[in-house]
Amino acid sequence: MPVIQHGPRDKKWVALTFDADLTALMRERLQHGKVKSYYNEALITKLRQEHVPATLFLTGMWMEQYPDRVRELAADPLFELGTHTYDHKGFTKHCYTLGTVARKDMLSDVRKAVTMLDQLDSHATRWFRFPGGCYDGTALHELAPAGVTAVGLDVPGADGFARSPKPIVKQVLTHCQNGSIVVLHMHGGDNAPYTDEAITPIIAGLRAKGFRFVTVTQLMNG
Ligand SMILES: [Zn+2]
Repeated sequence: MPVIQHGPRDKKWVALTFDADLTALMRERLQHGKVKSYYNEALITKLRQEHVPATLFLTGMWMEQYPDRVRELAADPLFELGTHTYDHKGFTKHCYTLGTVARKDMLSDVRKAVTMLDQLDSHATRWFRFPGGCYDGTALHELAPAGVTAVGLDVPGADGFARSPKPIVKQVLTHCQNGSIVVLHMHGGDNAPYTDEAITPIIAGLRAKGFRFVTVTQLMNG
């Protein structure tokens, strides 16, 4: 499976990407009312207001939870959608606390999310993101028949479990360069509570530096 980490370095283009995680544990917190929503709608609203294109990576469980939102996002020409596995397990033995997908289940896990997205989005991309960014040669080998391309990153947005928007803004503005792929999160809730507050200063700051926002597809097609 091919992997990309960034686009061409000769243009002032940057791709903002947002992952929509949902795990069995997160779904439990939703069901018990401990978290109101794992859709950061304020974030998406701000991207729309600022006309900033973005690439969104959805887990299968998130699609199950929010199918109407997926259709809505798919219908918005500002966004393109890719997949982020079914339930956000790790594809290496030690991927933070994500657990591990067994080798024999890797391909079916990824295909499951791709099939689900295809049912909700008639022009779904074949971009794919590994949970936690974890992969190795075994995972790439197992997933070769899936027909997806792994989209890595060169700027981790550091919005996961952030305690304020400030460090997120600083992290992105400091590390963005020509062709960068920035990873942030769109599930909000207790896992990424400040992404929507950080996004406006991030957009303003990158625009002030002369960057243009593009989707991953636009970035890679030049
Ligand atoms: Zn994720």
